[in-house]
Amino acid sequence: MTETGITDPALGRLADLPRAVLFRAPTHLEVMPNLASACGTSRPLLVKRDDLTDLAFGGNKVRQLEFYLGEAQAQGADTVLITGAVQSNFARLTAAGARKLGMDCHIQWEERVTKQDPRYRNSGNVLIERILGATLHFYPEGEDEAGADRRLGEIADELRQAGRKPYIIPLAPGHAPLGALGYVVAAQELLQQIDETDLCVDEIFVASGSGATHAGLLFGLRALGSSIPVTGICVRRDAAAQGPRISQRCVEIAELLQIENSVSAEDVVVTDAFLAPGYGRASEEVIEAIRLAARTEALMLDPVYSGKTMAGFISAAKRAEGEGALIVIHTGGTPGIFAYEDDLTA
Ligand SMILES: *Cc1c(COP(=O)(O)O)cnc(C)c1O
Repeated sequence: MTETGITDPALGRLADLPRAVLFRAPTHLEVMPNLASACGTSRPLLVKRDDLTDLAFGGNKVRQLEFYLGEAQAQGADTVLITGAVQSNFARLTAAGARKLGMDCHIQWEERVTKQDPRYRNSGNVLIERILGATLHFYPEGEDEAGADRRLGEIADELRQAGRKPYIIPLAPGHAPLGALGYVVAAQELLQQIDETDLCVDEIFVASGSGATHAGLLFGLRALGSSIPVTGICVRRDAAAQGPRISQRCVEIAELLQIENSVSAEDVVVTDAFLAPGYGRASEEVIEAIRLAARTEALMLDPVYSGKTMAGFISAAKRAEGEGALIVIHTGGTPGIFAYEDDLTA
């Protein structure tokens, strides 16, 4: 364990929980003047570059893994298990983080996205997992979180019988939200950066999938006394399902940190306007947002997460009146562009 730099008592037990340091903080907070003029706004537009979190092409899961892999290390684990979509960034970064800390990794692929292009199953994150030497398993369902976790538990049992010490990163809700803690830390980091720039920030935009990133960021901001609005862009479920999920995550974070939950029902804002046609599939508007961000700011966004978030951000930047800055969190997903070559070149 290394120095974590978290001393704020408002964050409760955060500094006491095991954490493996996997990247150099802070990630850059960059101004996007070209995108702002393309959107016709005089507001400052900023991006927090969480796509540049050092480890194997980076992304938001690096922050989340600091707490999962910290706990794995504290338990003396030698193998980490994770389940996800075939092009899961979480699986890729778990394999990378495990290797960095001297552990093996088992990945279970779920059938979440029906995509015929062979690059979906061979390139992008899959290629990186193969290079990292992860052991691959297959689960033929895509919407059965409990079942996928159960199967992962069976693989862990087999490993235990073979004398290994497995550590599972669970998928379904109802477990301690360790990953969200990475974004509680990020909230503190971002507030510090905002302080240094003297900017008045009107709104922050972030992808909302499992909700660990969205809930962690929102929880951290409110715990530290910031009332900056946060809008979650749905990438997996519609707003009716995602809103309660984020609220529940915040309750769980408060329990884990043993502090009060300062997130109110009104604080939880989600939009599913950019979700269609569904998880892992991008609309023409999302592909256009990916192109615009690349051609104005050289950002590389993926069609599954960060492209959808950028579509929401651009739409707000074009629409919103006011002077304050808008910030988008670039959560990464860079390898996904190689798996979605057909969508991006159509
Ligand atoms: C997983 C992921 C997200 C969503 O984050 P959650 O914490 O699951 O909500 C967003 N962007 C990228 C690139 C991701 O890999």
